[in-house]
Amino acid sequence: MDTVDSSRYECFHCNRLFQTPVFEVAREWGCVRFDTEPPNVEIHGSEGLECYCSRGCLNARVSIVMAREQTPVRPPGIGPVEVCARCGGPVDMARVHLTYLASGAVKKGLILDMFGVDYLAVVCNQCSKSVPAEAPAVAAVGASLME
Ligand SMILES: [Zn+2]
Ligand SMILES: [Zn+2]
Repeated sequence: MDTVDSSRYECFHCNRLFQTPVFEVAREWGCVRFDTEPPNVEIHGSEGLECYCSRGCLNARVSIVMAREQTPVRPPGIGPVEVCARCGGPVDMARVHLTYLASGAVKKGLILDMFGVDYLAVVCNQCSKSVPAEAPAVAAVGASLME
C-alpha cells in the first residue's frame, strides 16, 4: 500500500486527498452547563466517524452515516431537556449524553479551528447504551465477580 502523508485526509465521499478545511461527522459525549451565560458545552469525549473535503461531500454522506448509527437526524434545541432522536424520550442536557454533530475545521499548524458546528441529534442514555463503542463489557464481568 502507498504511504499516505499523515497530515492529509482522504474524503469518505469522493476519495480525494486533502488537507484543510476538514469537515467531519462525530459522536460526542458531553453535557451543557446552564449556570453560565451563555450556557457552556462541556465535552467529555468525542470520536470522529468520517471526514470530508467539503460541506457538499459531508451533506451527501450525513444520512448514510446516521442510518448506520440507527439514529435519525433530529437537530436539538438549546433547552435543558431535548428529545431523543431514537425513542422520542427526554434527554436531560445537563447530564452527560450522546450527541451527533457535523462540523468544519481549518487546520492551523497542529490546531484545528472549528467553525460551523451543526448538532444533528441527541440520544438519551437509555438508547446510547446500544451504541457499539459504549458496550459495557468490563462492567458486566465485574458484576458477576461480586456474587
Ligand atoms: Zn470529497
Ligand atoms: Zn432514547
